[in-house]
Formats: sequence, C-alpha cells, structure tokens
Amino acid sequence: MPSRESLTLDSLVTALAGVGPKLATALKRLGIRTVGDLFWHLPHSFEDLRTVYEVAKAPVSVPVTLHGQFISINARRSFKRRLAVIEGVFQDESGVIPVVWFGQTYIVRAIPMHKTVALAGNIERYKGRLQMNSPVIEVLTQSTTVHTGRLVPQYSLTAGVLMKQLRGMMHEALQRVEIIDWFDESFLRTHNLLPLKTAFWQMHFPTREDQVPATTKRLAFDELFLLSLSRIHSRAERRTRFALPLKGDPSVALATLHFALTLDQELAIKDVREDLAKSYPMHRLIQGEVGSGKTVVASAAIAVAAASNKQALYLAPTEVLARQQAAVLQRMFGLLEEKVALLVSAEALINGEVTPKTEVIKQIASGEIKVIVGTHALLEKKVDVSNLALVIVDEQHRFGVAQRQAAQAKGGKAGGGVVPHLLTMTATPIPRTLQLAFLGDLDVSTLHTMPSGERQVKTFVFEAKDRGRVEKAIRRRIDKGEQVYVVCPLIDPSDTLGVKSATAEFERLKKEPAFKNVTMALLHGKLKTAEKTAVLDDFRTGKTQVLITTTVIEVGIDVANATVMVIEAAERFGLAQLHQLRGRVGRQGNEGICALFAESPSERALDRLTAFAKTNDGFKLAELDLELRGPGEWFGTAQSGYPEFKAADLSDVRLVDEAATAAEELVEKDPELKQHATLRVRLSYLLTEEHHAS
Ligand code: ADP
Ligand code: MG
Repeated sequence: MPSRESLTLDSLVTALAGVGPKLATALKRLGIRTVGDLFWHLPHSFEDLRTVYEVAKAPVSVPVTLHGQFISINARRSFKRRLAVIEGVFQDESGVIPVVWFGQTYIVRAIPMHKTVALAGNIERYKGRLQMNSPVIEVLTQSTTVHTGRLVPQYSLTAGVLMKQLRGMMHEALQRVEIIDWFDESFLRTHNLLPLKTAFWQMHFPTREDQVPATTKRLAFDELFLLSLSRIHSRAERRTRFALPLKGDPSVALATLHFALTLDQELAIKDVREDLAKSYPMHRLIQGEVGSGKTVVASAAIAVAAASNKQALYLAPTEVLARQQAAVLQRMFGLLEEKVALLVSAEALINGEVTPKTEVIKQIASGEIKVIVGTHALLEKKVDVSNLALVIVDEQHRFGVAQRQAAQAKGGKAGGGVVPHLLTMTATPIPRTLQLAFLGDLDVSTLHTMPSGERQVKTFVFEAKDRGRVEKAIRRRIDKGEQVYVVCPLIDPSDTLGVKSATAEFERLKKEPAFKNVTMALLHGKLKTAEKTAVLDDFRTGKTQVLITTTVIEVGIDVANATVMVIEAAERFGLAQLHQLRGRVGRQGNEGICALFAESPSERALDRLTAFAKTNDGFKLAELDLELRGPGEWFGTAQSGYPEFKAADLSDVRLVDEAATAAEELVEKDPELKQHATLRVRLSYLLTEEHHAS
C-alpha cells in the first residue's frame, strides 16, 4: 500500500506510488528529482479527449474516448514478426470494436473484464475493418479521469518513462502536495496571478483550453521573478567576497594614446576605476558596438592593475582578436617597459617575439609579466597567474560560465580566498528590458558614441531578381579600388562553421561574369591559423578584392578600404548580428553599403529587414529583435549561464519588466527574505541547482 502522506515541492519523486530507484533514475534524465521538478515538466500539448463517443459513431484516425467493457481478450504470437499480439473485443450499447496491442502481454492480465472502463486512442482502418490500436485504458472508479475523457496532457519522455506513468504521477502529486505560496494574496491580486497550486493544476489538467494562458502567466512570472531574485542575491553575495583593491594610476599608460577619449570612454573608465578600488570583486560589463572603443577601456583597467603591481589577464574569443589586443597593449606599455605576453594554442610571444611556451608560463607564474593576453589557451592548467587581480573577457557571450570561472580561478593559488576583479565586454547590446532581470548581478557601462563619428552605412534589402543589377554596381565599386565582404550563413545546424554555404558562394562568384578578373578569397573556421592569417593579410593589403566568409570566424580586421558588405540569406541572422556585420564597413568620409539578400523571405522576415535598413541604433535593434525573434544569441545557448525557460517568453517585455521590478521591490523591503521563508527556501534550491549545472 503506498503511503499517502502529504508532499511538498521539495519531496523526492520516490515518495510517489510506484516510483522506485529505477524509474527515479530515468526521471533524472528529464531533470525531475523532486515533486517541484515534476510540476515544472510542463506538457508540450494536450490531446482533446473530452468527447466520449459511442463505438458505432466514433470518428476514425483522431484521438477518441470510448466507454464500455471488454468481452474477450486473447494473446497470440504473430508468425512473421514473432511478436505477441493481444486482441480484445470492446463493446458499448452501440456496437463492438476489436482492440489490438503489440508486445504488451501484461495487458491480458491487467484488463478488468466485463467492467466499465474508458479507452482512449485512435480508431484506424486495417485490412478493411476498423480497430483501435494500443489505447490507454482507465478504470472508471475515480471521480475524475486522468488519461481519458478530458484534455489530456502530453509530455516529452525518455527511455524508461511511459506517458501514462508520468501523467499518473503528476495527478497523484497534485492531489497530495501542499504548497505554501511564496506570494501572498495581495501580491497575487496586484500582479493578477493565480495561486501556485491552482496554476499547476490548470497547467497539467485544465478543464478548458482558455485556462492555459493565465496559468502560463503565473509560471512565467515565477521563472522571471526568481531569476531576478537570484541575480540580486549573487550581487549581494559578491559584495561579501574579497578582492585586492587596485588603486594604481593609469594616466601614464593612457597618455600614450594618440587620441582623446570619448566622454563615454571617460565615464566607463571612471566606473571601472571606482570598482577596482573596492575590496570586493568588480563584475562590470562594458557594452558598445564594434568600434566604440571598448578595448581602450579594457586597456585602462589593465593599466590600473599593472600600476598596482598586479597581474591582469585578457581573454579573447579568437586568435585574431588576441593578437590585435596584444599589439594595442604593446604600444601602450612599450614605453613603460611593461612586458606583454601573448599566449595562443600554437605559440607564445613576449612583446611580439616568439618565446618558448615554458619560458612564458614561467614568467607569468613568477609575476614578472603582468599583462597577459590570449585565447582559451590561457585556461590550460599549467598556466598559473600567481598575482592575478583582474580578468577581462572580451565578447563574453562567446565563453561559457565555466570558462569565465576558470579564468578567475587562475589566481586561486594566491590563497586567502581572494577573487580577481572581472570586466566583461560585449558588442551585442542587451535589450534594456532584459538588463534588470538578467544582468542584475553585474554593473553595466555603455559606450554609445563612436569615436570615429557615426558610421555611414546605407542598407538595402534585395531579392534574387535584383542580383544582376547589384552585382554590376558592386563591380563598379571594386573598379574604383574598394573592397567587398560577402558573408554567408550556416546552412544547417551540423554545418557549424558555415563552410558549405561560403564555399558554394565562392564557387558561384568565381564563375560570375560581373566579377571577371576580380581577386577573391574564401575564409571560414575550418582553415588552419596560418591560412587564415594569410587570407586576412591579403585582404588587408588589398591584394584580395572580395572576401567570402562566414560569421563564425570573427572578422577581426579593420580595413578602411572595405566599403561593401553583402549578406546572403540575411533573414537567417538576428538584427544585432546584422548590425555588427555592417559595422565593418563605412567609416567617416567613406560611405559604406550593406546589401542584404533575402533567400526566400516571408513577409514578416522582409518587414524585419526593412526595419533594420531604416535604423542605425544598436539598442533599438536589439529590442526589436527581442520582440520579433526572441532572446537570440545572448540567451539561447545552454552554456550562456542563463536558464532555459519553461513558461516565460522573453519577448513579453512587459511581464519581464514587471517580474524583475517586483523582485527588486521585495528585496528592498526585505533584503534577507526574513518575511519570505518559502521564497528563501525556493531560491536556495534554485541556486544549488544552478551551482550543479555550472
Ligand atoms: P571595440 O573594442 O569596441 O570594437 P576598439 O577599442 O577596438 O573598439 O576601437 C576601435 C578603433 O577605434 C581602434 O582602432 C581604436 O584605436 C580607435 N579608437 C578607440 N577610441 C578612440 C577615440 N577615443 N578616438 C579615436 N579613436 C579611437
Ligand atoms: Mg574589441
């Protein structure tokens, strides 16, 4: 006899009837360990089995519910397939229908004969007669049905978990659970939310379709609210940790720059210096478009660390960017006689001179080199940065949380639980509406203005029929001595480097009469580093006129002479990404052209691209992108450190904002959640989950 004591959200699923260790293990694969996890395993759809049909009148090939009795049941073995075939005869007042199962011999014993039961499944025509295949059977003793005669929830499953099993567990758990809602009645009323238990009931076992939206709203609100709360919590937690206060003066290093800082750069550097001077770790994000001068801010932070006689580590997502940054820093620190180390997978350099890796690693470990730049190669175990006080992560969304943490742990051996300051940078602006919910744990500085003046790029949307005309126009620009990028998308998820489409486009353009005698080169992520460097050098020096490439490799080059950006299948890109791409052309005094080709655009896609062509504000585009396409590259990947939402839709910016604001207000009133014990418990559960995940 299963025990029927009441459950809480934190009860293990093994407290449910019939859930033994084996099933519990299988359920873990679905992320279900507790009753709360079970409730958050939301149905992907419902089967409408509400109408109970008479056997004689039931429609064919759609899910139906029947009520009646089995009058016979037999098992035999099929000759051909050596498979057990179970055949039953089911009847109600209107008629009889054969019912067939394959393989499931236990059914013979499980079916209660001559007793009224419900069947749910599809009636199909087979060899000229109607039969029902593998229906679900439900004994009609309960006051409500779970698997038949209602809107029946459908769940994603895994090996070892059957639909009926999961649904049965869900129903049992909902009946037995006691939930103390973390929101009180007035809060629920203010935000127009259902009580949590009602929401779970209606999410899994709605009596009407129109209950689902209100349910989703409550669950979405909880996801967003708890995310915001966890960000606020980690901000508070960060302030209890220790970092080395860095108060060195960067002005000597900054004086080596041959330009004046923009106001935004000055403000960002001021923010960074204030953070660095504190005895708890900085976590600041610098956001600004490509070319807005983020690198200069990062360099200033490094200069503060170096002037404080501490080490700084700069992590770049690609070798090209790492080399570029090392060159910038060498110029800055050359006069100060501060060595700059560059470490990539293939080699190590000190002040641009190739040096044995072991030697570089030794000088890093001893603290002799304070300015350290590199790629993932820096994260190797053998790299030990004894005196590390600052970590900078460029294009931070290209790294996982674990990698950021690994970089910060490089100074761990210094002991004392000291955490390095962290500065991250991104050229993909985060829509303002998401900042509060997602970035509540960090501080943000934004570079709005472009030091080189606003870029001048005209954007046009073209269709296939325009191609001939556009290619002729591009040819005229090439003949004037200007250069062209052609960017191709990924073709399918397996083509992770975009090699296929770029290669195909390269082959096509080579044969194109409009591009006769034009020098072209292909660049994609599968090329070896030396090949990439050669291709980029040829483009930089103008030897190559057209560069056909993908977005996967960072086009980490700044070629003033490149004025045309062609983007193929542009509808496949996010607007923020398109905006970054067009930022590579069009400098002051040299107007750029961005030509978007839509492959087979829907009307919506065309509208999106047209809106893009009209706007030059990266933040507006990020916001628009969010509304039209969802959260995109920032929040899409599992490694981004952001949770996947089950109910929340981030493009519902009003709810995102409402939940995040409510979380801020609650913490303001009750910082330690003393009056919100259940919420505190739920938060600490989520934080340990997050901890396990990363
Ligand atoms: P980001 O990292 O944001 O893409 P960078 O820091 O690489 O931008 O700067 C882009 C270019 O602009 C670089 O060549 C840099 O030297 C130059 N630059 C940066 N700040 C200024 C400034 N205040 N005035 C003039 N040029 C600048
Ligand atoms: Mg940069």
